[in-house]
Amino acid sequence: MARLIDSGPGCPTPTPLRGASAAEARGLSYDDAVKAETDALYPLVQDFITPMEWPAIAPLVAAINRLKKEKNAVILAHNYMTPDIFQLVGDFRGDSLQLAREAANVDADIIVQAGVHFMAETSKILAPEKTVLIPDTRAGCSLAASITGADVRLIKEKFPNYPIVTYVNCTAEVKAECHITCTSSNAAQVVEAIAAEWNTDTVILVPDQYLAKNVAAQTGIRVMTWPGACEVHEMFSADDVEQLREAHPGVVILAHPECPPDVLEASDFAGSTSALANYVAEESPNKVVLLTECSMSDNVASANPGVNFIRPCNLCPHMKRITLENIYDCLVTGEYEVLIPEDVRIRAKQALDAMMALPKMAKPLAFKTGLKPLEIEMVV
Ligand code: SF4
Repeated sequence: MARLIDSGPGCPTPTPLRGASAAEARGLSYDDAVKAETDALYPLVQDFITPMEWPAIAPLVAAINRLKKEKNAVILAHNYMTPDIFQLVGDFRGDSLQLAREAANVDADIIVQAGVHFMAETSKILAPEKTVLIPDTRAGCSLAASITGADVRLIKEKFPNYPIVTYVNCTAEVKAECHITCTSSNAAQVVEAIAAEWNTDTVILVPDQYLAKNVAAQTGIRVMTWPGACEVHEMFSADDVEQLREAHPGVVILAHPECPPDVLEASDFAGSTSALANYVAEESPNKVVLLTECSMSDNVASANPGVNFIRPCNLCPHMKRITLENIYDCLVTGEYEVLIPEDVRIRAKQALDAMMALPKMAKPLAFKTGLKPLEIEMVV
């Protein structure tokens, strides 16, 4: 069950507590120049970082922003980054698809991926001429770790007549074996398009079994899947939704489609991280809960100060590997560069290109809520 935290300002997400030593160990101090450079930034994070902590954090922020200019580097910050990274040093912010598109188009020599490893690989696939750095190579993902390229080759042998869609939350090696990728913003659109292209009523969607079940319920297409799951979203349950409604009458409940189908059934709105952020901005609900990773609520709350957020807190331990300290270190040392064998990169890009060639949607697709969960077949 998710850990329920009451609403109101004050970040439940642990922006890592720092002594001055983290900056000092790197020869950085809170002097007048740093103060002048960072004073205007503090209001962006004042709900999450106390004035007492700020002198330990500001030198890192100032140094990172200076290094970006010196090295012609940009930071792609995923919605699940802590507010210090997301608000203070991120140049582009969003979900994995938005960040991948920025990676392809941005005029920079270096991309620092403030996100997990498969996202850095996606940037490298789309921007092979740029140096892509990940600040901590241990920033993995339970979904990406659940399936290998060899697994997909076996699925293709077993089901040669069905197209295989992979959620972008997978390695380059897995993308290279699949026919097309999808994101949580366009999964239903991709599954419908590939079914029509192959003239089939059956599509295999890997590796997230819950996304696959939720797409199956939306589309009416026979979807088969793989037993992978996001360790953060699978923690949410329909009981959590019921408890939230009891504890917070009138609350609007928004769920990410990596959650189990009974969670979407019980929620008021469902969609990708971008769809959830758009919903809050457009509808301005009085009281809202986002059933997704903790930092997402913090970042959406910052952008919508009039909305009261209830915060069930499920942290992604992989996303939280990325810190201001290791972003600074990677800009100084150039470690750790993400490299992909060229033959794998080219085939993985074909799967991404197939997705990007589909008509661009005006906004991320919402998932219908209230639908009865479907049992679907596994490919293993
Ligand atoms: S939140 Fe889930 S899907 Fe996203 S990186 Fe973490 S484990 Fe992977």
